[in-house]
Amino acid sequence: MSIQVPEQTTESLLRSEIHREFSSGRTRSAEWRIAQLRGIEALCREREHEIAAALAADLGRSAVEAWLGDVASTAGEAAFARRHLKKWMRTQRVSLPLAQLPGRGWVQYEPLGTVLVIGPWNYPFYLAMAPVVAAVAAGNCVVIKPSELAPATSELIATLVPKYLDSSAIRVVQGGADTTQNLLAQGFDHAFFTGGTEVGRKIMAAAAPTLTPVTLELGGKSPVIVTAGADIEVAARRLAYTKLINAGQTCIAPDYVLADAAIADELADRIVASIVAFQDAPTLRIVNDRQFDRLVASIRETSGKVLHGATYDRASLRIAPTVIIDPSPDDQVMTGEIFGPILPILSVDSEETAVKFVNERPKPLALYVFAGSQKAGAAIVDRVPSGGAVVNHIMMHCLVPQLPFGGVGASGMGDYHGRWGFERLSHRRAVLAKRTFPDPSIIYPPYGKAALKIMRKLF
Ligand code: NAD
Repeated sequence: MSIQVPEQTTESLLRSEIHREFSSGRTRSAEWRIAQLRGIEALCREREHEIAAALAADLGRSAVEAWLGDVASTAGEAAFARRHLKKWMRTQRVSLPLAQLPGRGWVQYEPLGTVLVIGPWNYPFYLAMAPVVAAVAAGNCVVIKPSELAPATSELIATLVPKYLDSSAIRVVQGGADTTQNLLAQGFDHAFFTGGTEVGRKIMAAAAPTLTPVTLELGGKSPVIVTAGADIEVAARRLAYTKLINAGQTCIAPDYVLADAAIADELADRIVASIVAFQDAPTLRIVNDRQFDRLVASIRETSGKVLHGATYDRASLRIAPTVIIDPSPDDQVMTGEIFGPILPILSVDSEETAVKFVNERPKPLALYVFAGSQKAGAAIVDRVPSGGAVVNHIMMHCLVPQLPFGGVGASGMGDYHGRWGFERLSHRRAVLAKRTFPDPSIIYPPYGKAALKIMRKLF
């Protein structure tokens, strides 16, 4: 009789190899974790120009934005985790209820095991590596699957990661949807996905059969509410600046504006003036034909008034920053995530209308409010749920490692950055240590009359 051994795929071999690495216990020590974080910092420092060149090839990104959006952001996350790691790793003592005395209780943070990181194309280096920072800080083995839509960056990550990090415990697999599905089918201790909401659903479904827990960092429409009391000039400048970064292809980019009718025209004019002033910078390009065609169709089909832009060139995949006034809420630019250099501005008659408008739609990844004071802005934030929120600025919350970053509802589940990422990819383990004495027989069956009385007092 011959025993049939199931054929091993590349993905299943990889899964068993890194599982073995994790089981060796090597990755648990603070020293290993710190060495990996130092490796990420060194990779960013020494290979900045190669990373920038890959991002220029994939996305036409300027060296300044490559540094800010991908290199400095990744190195900053790694340095912050390295500096705070030992404090995060400390066990936390808890006090015990009377019934459990004498004894000691504590929470200890343990690695989950193997983590699959699935990256998107828009910040293809940062969004593949920042989750790795959290994963190695928590002592996990990692498989990184960068986006196939940023092929030069994906190739560079596959080349450089083994040179700077522990190449047996941290692996890179290149490929698209099929590769990701095959990896997910192997079962991991966690899958960390950054990408669109629709693909997020597929990731969660693919993770379900193996009960792989998921973090989903998704997208959506992040609104900007501008009240009549806001500083219109600053709001306009910050809006134009952040919308232009990566040609609007940023998950927390301002998607659309709800402006108080009293200031809507002035705001729109000032946004256009800022766009014109900033356009000395080279216009960034759209990632591919499919996204370009989707964006151009939404400009062509809009029911709103085009105040600025609406010119494009398919050969170079460039779309001029476009401002649209009062499109219908059913318009394509108002129904799906824009993810491009198009800014719809809708005028509203009150703060109440703006709050209602956002709350009738899926919970956004970010909410931005420009108001006369931080207090007035915070009061609106309190009435509109979102993943994160910023008062009187846009996107800056993602640069604060002390703040958790993540979505809520349709914009995602689970957060990371700084300590939050360490906790996300650690198991918070409860430990209770008891003595064997005293061991009163009264609490064991058969219960005597006094037992219930005593238990009622104790528990
Ligand atoms: P995407 O969802 O198309 O792809 C992301 C990753 O999923 C890629 O690695 C891809 O290979 C993989 N993938 C695609 N289809 C798959 C499938 N059927 N099964 C398994 N894996 C699959 O996202 P994208 O286009 O690369 O990125 C843009 C989206 O990501 C936007 O919606 C944006 O808002 C969102 N995003 C969110 C964040 C965040 O932090 N919340 C950051 C960046 C981008």
